[in-house]
Amino acid sequence: MLGVGGLERGVQGRRPVPLYVGRRAVLNWTAHEEERFQDALRQGLGWLKEAGLSWEPAGTDRMLCYARLLVSANMRINLTAITDPEGVAWKHFIDSMLGLLVVGRAPRTSAGGEGEGNPAGEAAAWLADLGAGAGFPGVVLGLAGGWNCLEVEAQAKKAAFLRELEGLLRPGQLQVWAGRAERLAREEAWRERLGVVVARALARLDVIAEYGMPLLREGGLLVAYKGPEGERELELLDAFREELGVGEATVVRRRLPHDWGERLLLVLTKRGRSDPRYPRREGVPEKRPLGGRQSGKG
Ligand code: SAH
Repeated sequence: MLGVGGLERGVQGRRPVPLYVGRRAVLNWTAHEEERFQDALRQGLGWLKEAGLSWEPAGTDRMLCYARLLVSANMRINLTAITDPEGVAWKHFIDSMLGLLVVGRAPRTSAGGEGEGNPAGEAAAWLADLGAGAGFPGVVLGLAGGWNCLEVEAQAKKAAFLRELEGLLRPGQLQVWAGRAERLAREEAWRERLGVVVARALARLDVIAEYGMPLLREGGLLVAYKGPEGERELELLDAFREELGVGEATVVRRRLPHDWGERLLLVLTKRGRSDPRYPRREGVPEKRPLGGRQSGKG
């Protein structure tokens, strides 16, 4: 079922054969592999219910399409090391949807004109995904929870891939910020306005908080996706909570079934405003993290 039998492992281990249109590889999963993805996704959605998600995520019919774009683009751009169907379903899609336990569905806004971008009044219904890579978790949260996604990605090639995902979402629901998060946090249109900031595999929590807390409105949430040891990173914030505007901090812990591992969401609530000094110049938060040079990265 989950690719643990000998035969299945054989299939998983074989390098998939790409299909070419002109010189471009467009698909590298076989029909059987696509079925395995769909099976794993269904199982994962069932598991999310057990994990406490009380409503049906939307857009799950478009996730295979997303996975196809991912595995085919991955032949040109290095987006992910995970390309087997079960791995993509669990480690990218289901893992991303764990955030729904914290952020819920997007609030409805009266605005929402098609393709309008980021009028400040609507910013609460926007979620920024810092260091989005191939769009995890942000784009999945957009599909599943209706959030407007601001995908923030420093590498131009990855940002270009993120733009290819536009058709999966409502018109205007996806915006790509091709640049560093430090610069976004200096933009009047976004600073102190967003409802949610998420980040997965980006950096240590003190670095993420320096990028992300200034973007949040009062009461907004920063959700950092971490592995089982992630809780330790909370103490890196101790001396800077006031300056960054960190209020309550909570931890959501879930063990995924089979061998998919234990995942942690560190959730910081925005209180007050962030000191205008933060984030520091581009590259500085990472080079000289607020919490000092202790070990450990995202
Ligand atoms: N969130 C994705 C990708 C993680 S890799 C996932 O979990 O699969 C981290 C990504 O963050 C890389 O693509 C890198 O280019 C980007 N990145 C690193 N520092 C950044 C910054 N300061 N601003 C924007 N993007 C950044």
